[in-house]
Amino acid sequence: MSRRVREGARAARVERVRARMGELGVDALLLSLGADLPWLTGYEAMPLERLTMLVLPSDARPTLVVPRLEAPRVEHDEELFALLPWDETDDPVRLVADLVGSRASLSVSDRTWATFVLDLQDSLPAARFSVASRVTAPLRAVKDDEEVAALRRAAAAADRVATQLVSGDIALVGRTEADVSRDIGRRLVAEGHQRVNFAIVGSGPNSASPHHGAGGRVIAAGEPVVCDFGGTFDSYCSDITRTVFTGAPPPEYRDLYSVLEAAQAAAVDAATVGTPCEDVDAVARRLIDDGGYGPHFIHRTGHGIGLEEHEDPYLVGGNCEPLAPGHAFSVEPGIYLEGRWGARLEDIVVATAAGPEAINGVDHGLAVVEA
Ligand code: ZN
Ligand code: ZN
Ligand code: ZN
Repeated sequence: MSRRVREGARAARVERVRARMGELGVDALLLSLGADLPWLTGYEAMPLERLTMLVLPSDARPTLVVPRLEAPRVEHDEELFALLPWDETDDPVRLVADLVGSRASLSVSDRTWATFVLDLQDSLPAARFSVASRVTAPLRAVKDDEEVAALRRAAAAADRVATQLVSGDIALVGRTEADVSRDIGRRLVAEGHQRVNFAIVGSGPNSASPHHGAGGRVIAAGEPVVCDFGGTFDSYCSDITRTVFTGAPPPEYRDLYSVLEAAQAAAVDAATVGTPCEDVDAVARRLIDDGGYGPHFIHRTGHGIGLEEHEDPYLVGGNCEPLAPGHAFSVEPGIYLEGRWGARLEDIVVATAAGPEAINGVDHGLAVVEA
């Protein structure tokens, strides 16, 4: 990401973070594992027993405390932050505590290891701790133009694999789900992803389990196969679901799928700027309810996406936050008849002033592949 993001964009992010820290009364942000740190600095902390932590005070220059052996990997921008490498015999928690000083209100990365948080609390007994997502999540949820461009590249690469799936280029019948999952993963990489994050393949009755782990079941003729996959492309994530049927689908399944397709399209159309997130969820839910499948739509309609596969904003009942230009999220209703079969349809959508824009373009109809 660091190569693609202009230095100016990062400096602007730090300023927005500082402004929000001011609003919330946060004196210092402590960033370790997770996407906040790379979003601000271009550097992603290693998930190690050695502590990496950016101390970003509201009133002073940020400092990145980093294990000496990791320091060569930091693309260091002196303007943006100071670098403080620590040696094997140093106490990094002490270094962070010294940088924090007497600042009282601290927000620490949600994914920081508990062992470091507990040590920091011991070292800073007067400080109050909260999660950094309070500060960063609403800011990261609004993508700038470069981020939207990166999400588009990721979506286009996932689309190329989904096109291979719905056109029958990826053989299904006679192969295990796990084999097809590995095949999809290889194709995601071949289309430019640096990393495969997941490739769900749920066939027959397994299609009724939304997060089914692709396993040893051999895909047969005359059944649905739900494929939900994504990866990381230039630091940003892709995520798409298409459902294919191996052979001619029975009328009962066509009915289920047409209800799902209408619900997904209506929810995308409803995702206009200013609409509360929960209203988009309600639109999909109402159509699935009216179609007679209400109790079988057992998850929220969507999640935000960016540096992480799942981030703000969540399209779920109870989230009354209005959509804003630059919000990027999935719209992915599903219908699951336990023990029988299921279907899901998912695109990534960006909210713009001109209306919701789906950045996945693969046909939405039930894909029928030869058995
Ligand atoms: Zn999911
Ligand atoms: Zn998905
Ligand atoms: Zn998703």
